Amino acid sequence: MRIDVLTLFPAMFDGVFGASILGKARDKGIVSLNAVNFRDYANNKHNTVDDYPYGGGGGMVLKPEPLFAAVEDLMPEGGQRPRVILMCPQGETYSQRKAEELAAHEHLVFVCGHYEGYDERIREHLVTDELSIGDYVLTGGELPAMVVIDSVVRLLPGVLGNENSAVTDSFSTGLLEHPHYTRPASFRGWDVPDVLLSGHHKNVEAWRREQSLLRTLQRRPELLEQIELTKKERVWLDKLLDAQPELRDR
Ligand code: SAM
Repeated sequence: MRIDVLTLFPAMFDGVFGASILGKARDKGIVSLNAVNFRDYANNKHNTVDDYPYGGGGGMVLKPEPLFAAVEDLMPEGGQRPRVILMCPQGETYSQRKAEELAAHEHLVFVCGHYEGYDERIREHLVTDELSIGDYVLTGGELPAMVVIDSVVRLLPGVLGNENSAVTDSFSTGLLEHPHYTRPASFRGWDVPDVLLSGHHKNVEAWRREQSLLRTLQRRPELLEQIELTKKERVWLDKLLDAQPELRDR
């Protein structure tokens, strides 16, 4: 996979692209990660990338020319058009499903804004996706782009040591992940559940699935409406709700 980030602050990506799992994925050649300063594509005397808004008002607006020129320069000749992703608080709220969808593409280009906004023609004619990482406003698109890139790259084959860890992660299964325990088996009088020490693989799997359902019911009940449960799981959940009716009101 190739990932290009258009930003006015490429140095912000040095640490994130060079360290930990992303750094290793890059070293292994699984992904190429490039931060490009789109000021280099400004074709005016002072390398200006923003201007005052038509109609007046505060804040500066990113001009279309440098961003169009940068994206066009990054497109391989005759190759597939990349996904061009605009980081923006007004975009689609980012999710694990979106990460899975983006991980299937060969070339992603991220556009990081700063200042008040983008010229609307960038949204209308340049980008393929608009993504928000949540209902709050940051000073720039760099941190949101890092969040999206990290979550996409960890899904690429060969990036995570244990391939299963991405498969069983929260949201990948549609549920929140089950609790984990490690040694010691007893810590300050708090014991690890017996089933995990039993060595009985099938019982461990059944316990994990139940805990995953319980945790999702307690913390994110709306997720349960979006996944298919077996008849046995439905019966188990109904029994649980009968025993703890307060869970119904969440
Ligand atoms: N005036 C804009 C608005 O009200 O929608 C907010 C601009 S914000 C100060 C500057 C830049 O930060 C945006 O262009 C975007 O790239 C980035 N940004 C801020 N919050 C974000 C979020 N929640 N998700 C994604 N990008 C965000």
